[in-house]
Amino acid sequence: ERLSEVRGMDSVTLDGARVELGANVGSSRDLDEVLKNDAEAIGLYRTEFLYLESSMLPTEDEQFEAYRSVVAGMGGRPVVIRTLDIGGDKKLDYLSIPEEENPFLGYRAIRLCLDRQDIFKVQLRAILRSSAFGKVRILFPMISSLEELRAAKGLLEEAKEELRAESVEFDEGVTSGIMVEVPSAAILSDQFAGECDFFSIGTNDLIQYTVAVDRGNDKLSPLYSPCHPAVLRLVKTVIENGRRAGIPVAMCGEAAGDPRLIPVLLGMGLTEFSMSPSSILQARWMVRNLRKSDLEKAAEYVVTLGTTAEAEAFCESLLMSPDLCG
Ligand code: PEP
Ligand code: MG
Repeated sequence: ERLSEVRGMDSVTLDGARVELGANVGSSRDLDEVLKNDAEAIGLYRTEFLYLESSMLPTEDEQFEAYRSVVAGMGGRPVVIRTLDIGGDKKLDYLSIPEEENPFLGYRAIRLCLDRQDIFKVQLRAILRSSAFGKVRILFPMISSLEELRAAKGLLEEAKEELRAESVEFDEGVTSGIMVEVPSAAILSDQFAGECDFFSIGTNDLIQYTVAVDRGNDKLSPLYSPCHPAVLRLVKTVIENGRRAGIPVAMCGEAAGDPRLIPVLLGMGLTEFSMSPSSILQARWMVRNLRKSDLEKAAEYVVTLGTTAEAEAFCESLLMSPDLCG
């Protein structure tokens, strides 16, 4: 009941810092939940489910219909559509990809799309066409080098050219950005910031690749923490590099909706959070009861800690602040 009081309210801290709280979705079937929980955007649309639910590659028109219904359903609020993030633990039976010894380090996501430009182009055209129905942002997953970003942007420009030549409508103002989920992208984020329109930090993979822990391995789960000091430092670096370059920085990994992390992320200057729809009202309630200026020092301090346990304990202590408990 307390949480439903913040429905319809702004996501703004006690000292006036506004953030955007978005939802992660896998299809238009999630729209009800998104709207019920008052999401301000779709911060991550995982398009791979469309491919996984199909017995062959979805056509451009099928994809366009799926994206259009999500984009139009959001009534002008931003929708971040992530291009195909297949591979790793997500396999398409109808794409014969040779077995790999280390699929999480293998032929996946943008690597596959840059190799199979026939598949990628169809998706880019479908996404662009959907941009005529709302506010679309295009997100490239698993980017680990500037060359990949440049190649992906080149293909996006080709897709735009094709649509222009065919007089097919799309939003000329559509923006594109990268998932920062590989440590190389986080470390080089100052370079990337000059060549893309936004960042979205994918902590689910960033943790696994930074700490070298398979995100699905239960036996190793104590090692898999967003509070690992190396992960916190990378997150802070990415937010700072984005801010310096004047581009928005979002987070769409699980950490964005984790109450333990929200105070330090606010303190670090994160402005867009995307999470499971059911976490949004809780996050808004927290944001509205926190003071960003108080958290800036906390964000500086947390990255001086040496162990996950210390950082976790410190993040939890912030939840005891008088503003949140009063
Ligand atoms: C992530 O890696 O943090 C992310 C949001 O993407 P996914 O969980 O789909 O890999
Ligand atoms: Mg990921």
